[in-house]
Amino acid sequence: MSEADSQVAIVGGGPVGLLAALRLSYLGLSSRLFEAEQRLPEDLRASTFHPPTLELLDELGLTESLLAQGRICPTWQVRMHPSHERAAFDLSLLKADTRHPYRLQCEQFRLCRLLLQELRGRGNVELRFGHRVTALSQDADRVHLDVESERGAQRFRALFAIGADGARSIVRGCLGLPFQGQTYLETTILTTTPFLFEEHLPGLSGINYVWHEGGGTFSLLRLPQIWRCSLYPDPGESLDDAVAPAAIQRKLQGIVSRNEPYEVLAIRPYRIHMRIVDRYRKGRVALAGDAAHLNSPSGGMGMNGGLQDAWLLAEALGEVAGGAPLERLDRYTRRRRPVALEQILKQADGNRRRMQERDPAKRRQLFEELRRIAGDRERARSHLLRTSMIYGWRRCLEAA
Ligand SMILES: Cc1cc2nc3c(=O)[nH]c(=O)nc-3n(C[C@H](O)[C@H](O)[C@H](O)COP(=O)(O)OP(=O)(O)OC[C@H]3O[C@@H](n4cnc5c(N)ncnc54)[C@H](O)[C@@H]3O)c2cc1C
Repeated sequence: MSEADSQVAIVGGGPVGLLAALRLSYLGLSSRLFEAEQRLPEDLRASTFHPPTLELLDELGLTESLLAQGRICPTWQVRMHPSHERAAFDLSLLKADTRHPYRLQCEQFRLCRLLLQELRGRGNVELRFGHRVTALSQDADRVHLDVESERGAQRFRALFAIGADGARSIVRGCLGLPFQGQTYLETTILTTTPFLFEEHLPGLSGINYVWHEGGGTFSLLRLPQIWRCSLYPDPGESLDDAVAPAAIQRKLQGIVSRNEPYEVLAIRPYRIHMRIVDRYRKGRVALAGDAAHLNSPSGGMGMNGGLQDAWLLAEALGEVAGGAPLERLDRYTRRRRPVALEQILKQADGNRRRMQERDPAKRRQLFEELRRIAGDRERARSHLLRTSMIYGWRRCLEAA
């Protein structure tokens, strides 16, 4: 491929950019992917895969391998601590709706590794790690990208471009699209430990959102080798104090009290946001994933939404490359933006708000309502269709 003629330039080699490249390749479109980092980032980020995403990855032959590396969770719960009362949702109610009636817990970098391995064997994809896009512009026929790498500054051209360059997207900035929304006040402290909580907390599921009757909240998500715990600063506690090893020990001891300290493998504080652009496409350039929308990780929908974007954006680009008018790309916005807004951002915001509720009486009310839903087959199925992103995926496929 010469430096002037890739059909699609992809900015960002996270899960969304890599999936877009693979799907484009299957559709027969050539792409050149620019990733600023020299290697795949392997930090702890998303770990939940929902049924529609697993079905898409099935089409690329990747799901089996992902299942083998992760942990299948057939239920999830909202719990009270330390009473162990729980509202337990059973995803087997979705057996008629999906081939994958469960959530898979597996680190996102494992998917990225699989995608990269597949991409390396394909002739119509060029991967450029260590290449940072510094500017992007477009005219009626082409997109122009300025790129910095060890080889210095270079200019590339493509017929179309995808901005899959994450929350701080430079592509979004070059398109002049505002990222409207808010940053939440609280900081989540993601912590991992090999401690076996399931041997101490009765009836624990692989996915648990927990109200501490002392006032706070935490969540426990099971990965194959470790538990991933989301913790929060106590009222009045500064973030610096809250992430100190002694504070992490105190918070974990509040979950299961032990005579010895916890082995803590990682501590990662992060801020959460609810933001979205008002259009996903401008001219020959479209945004996907975190570059286009951000949500609270509560419910595990961010990465899934981005992967679903990548799938449908590649499909739309395939249609335009095949002769459909450029405006065909707006169908991608029509399909994906309402779902991001209504099904992902709002649902994640609701999950977060529910778990942040501090008033014991309101908590009890919310909890009892969840228990009623979980105990009624029809209501539980309807709740699970939404929380498992099946409803949203169906809705976007129906959009004209
Ligand atoms: C702590 C944490 C926990 C999370 N938990 C969940 C969860 O449980 N479930 C869920 O669904 N989501 C979760 N998320 C969100 C999820 O990780 C993101 O939605 C997902 O990574 C988005 O993928 P992406 O490819 O759009 O962006 P990213 O993964 O951010 O990838 C963007 C890539 O673009 C590259 N890049 C940036 N700028 C440039 C440039 N100028 N030139 C070239 N390359 C560039 C970056 O290096 C990066 O590799 C979590 C996020 C965090 C931080």
